[in-house]
Amino acid sequence: MRLRFAPSPTGYLHLGGARTALYNWLIARRQGGSFVLRIEDTDRTRSTEEAIRAIVSSLRWLGLDWDEGPEVGGAYGPYRQTERLSLYQRFARELRDRERAYPCFCTPEELKQRREAALAAGKPPRYDGRCRNLTGEEREFFEREGRPAALRFAVPHSGISVVSDLIRGKVRVQNEEIGDFILLRADGTPTYNLAVVVDDITMEITQVVRGEDHLPNTPKQLLLYQALGKNPPQFAHLPLILGPDRAPLSKRHGAVAVESYRDRGFLPEAMINYLALLGWSYDEKTTIFSRKELIEKFSLERVSKNPAVFDPAKLEWMNGYYIRELPTEELVKRLLPFAQKAGLLGGEVTAESLELLRKIAAVTRERMKLLSEFAPLADFFFKEEICRIPYWHKH
Ligand code: GLU
Repeated sequence: MRLRFAPSPTGYLHLGGARTALYNWLIARRQGGSFVLRIEDTDRTRSTEEAIRAIVSSLRWLGLDWDEGPEVGGAYGPYRQTERLSLYQRFARELRDRERAYPCFCTPEELKQRREAALAAGKPPRYDGRCRNLTGEEREFFEREGRPAALRFAVPHSGISVVSDLIRGKVRVQNEEIGDFILLRADGTPTYNLAVVVDDITMEITQVVRGEDHLPNTPKQLLLYQALGKNPPQFAHLPLILGPDRAPLSKRHGAVAVESYRDRGFLPEAMINYLALLGWSYDEKTTIFSRKELIEKFSLERVSKNPAVFDPAKLEWMNGYYIRELPTEELVKRLLPFAQKAGLLGGEVTAESLELLRKIAAVTRERMKLLSEFAPLADFFFKEEICRIPYWHKH
């Protein structure tokens, strides 16, 4: 069994992305499969090295280790799409040779005009197939003229594509509703649908578990597998995550970056436990699961079709629980950076200051929901300690 997490590095790791990574990781760990990290960076204008670093460090912090991918390598690499461009071109050529793809010479302006005209006439704004119907001579003429061409997939005009989703059951789409979509842009770079299919084929991925926002892409991807004569993987689309106001979770609801949860003093144990429950439940009542229990118990059968609602208060409550459960030594270790950042310990960490930290941690842990709450609670004790030094000792 081979699973993958395939983020586009256009920003930080979002809670939704972290949940997708977690579910893939849990299945791989449970079944003794491989978990692959693949960086989908073909959108060069939006992808950054900074974002790759943020994703990698967030996954590491959550403890979601990958068997193949950046930093660890593997037999199916490279694991960055920009390093796999010749592969996409090879598959694109194959589709063209099989007459399942054709060059499209329409310019962006022409496409825009026709789309607007279609909308005005109350028709769906899909590609109208103009270049699919070019004669051999017309094609040659444009090619000799040196007109830039994208490569489009020739979607069958009839038939139905059926996604057998492990969570949602069968999802059917009429092929005629799918417009001829682009595989390679005029600059030779692949679109998401081509790159993802080529990668999932060549990396021998057996299960694709990803967010529901990708469901509309899946029929297109199935058509590509068919045209290439390959068996598709199994698909599972995870329910949306909504904010407390039932709108899709976004920055409007506050922090959504995993890093900002780390910086506010959430424990990875609590994040993993909470994220696991965003769409999955074991028995409707158990809320606390260790990582080991999740590996034993998690299955896609118990993932809901319905959206999950993110509840920050519950996450904080859970974090408080895990703070109380930590062995004191471990708690001190985790508190140390927060205490240092708040300037509680002075420049150097001494045995005495650690001892003090330990004592204060023991009496404040019951009241902490976040590690960052330690400083305000502890400040008082540190000041106490200083006050108890009689002033004449200082002179
Ligand atoms: N790169 C896509 C994303 O970040 C995921 C693609 C996939 O899982 O198929 O949304």
